[in-house]
Amino acid sequence: TTVLEARDVHFAFGRTPALRGADLRLGEGEILAVMGPSGSGKSTLLHCLAGILVPDSGEIHFDGQRIDRLGETGRSALRRDKFGFVFQFGQLVPELSAEENVALPLLLSGVRRSAATAEARVLLERLGLDGLAARTSGELSGGQAQRVALARGLVARPRVLFADEPTGALDSLTGEQVMDLLVGSARAEGTSVVLVTHEPRVAAYADREVVVRDGKVLALTAEPAA
Ligand code: ADP
Ligand code: ADP
Repeated sequence: TTVLEARDVHFAFGRTPALRGADLRLGEGEILAVMGPSGSGKSTLLHCLAGILVPDSGEIHFDGQRIDRLGETGRSALRRDKFGFVFQFGQLVPELSAEENVALPLLLSGVRRSAATAEARVLLERLGLDGLAARTSGELSGGQAQRVALARGLVARPRVLFADEPTGALDSLTGEQVMDLLVGSARAEGTSVVLVTHEPRVAAYADREVVVRDGKVLALTAEPAA
């Protein structure tokens, strides 16, 4: 079944078109790599799928519901409750410890601090970070910080994890460790993943690849049956 779908999505930044009729379908539990050259529209497509940007035209459907027509409140609730995010630079809150950063999405969803902290510890342990729970991002290596960011992206058990160049700032060995954890966690939870990358080695972790070129999506490998 299809979890998330973009239909004929157009988006322009002022006069700069970024998406010109993009179509994409993400299956339940599917890990989809979105590749393509810099400036082709990958991040814009991710932001439209995730309800961060609203398309100028076209439709975004999540779980059979049209989400591009939701207001900012509805889209922000959706992002909080159903989606997880991990970006190129972890973007941890520098004043908070690793554990507090991971607990943050749960606290924002109204989970009590004790339960949020307990869940954050589970995620940190699963990602091999239990010894680092008290550290702030300034006290973590790049790879460790990115694993903390991944833990934060997964802690609320999202239906869809959006990963935009999640290994882009890491050396290749550290990037492989992060990808092993990302894919392993997604598989274990049945989480669908939209993985934006321009690195073929990262895309190789996905079930399927598409390429974005000039704001359109070219399918590379066959779509799974709906
Ligand atoms: P990619 O992720 O493939 O590198 P983007 O989606 O970031 O591509 O960008 C697509 C196009 O939109 C590019 O021409 C880029 O310069 C432009 N663009 C992206 N973000 C902005 C922005 N905030 N303001 C203006 N133009 C933007
Ligand atoms: P990516 O790694 O996806 O290619 P970029 O480095 O192109 O991302 O862009 C990083 C950020 O800068 C994005 O948030 C994007 O929206 C913004 N951006 C990209 N192109 C432009 C632009 N031409 N004008 C203003 N902002 C831009």
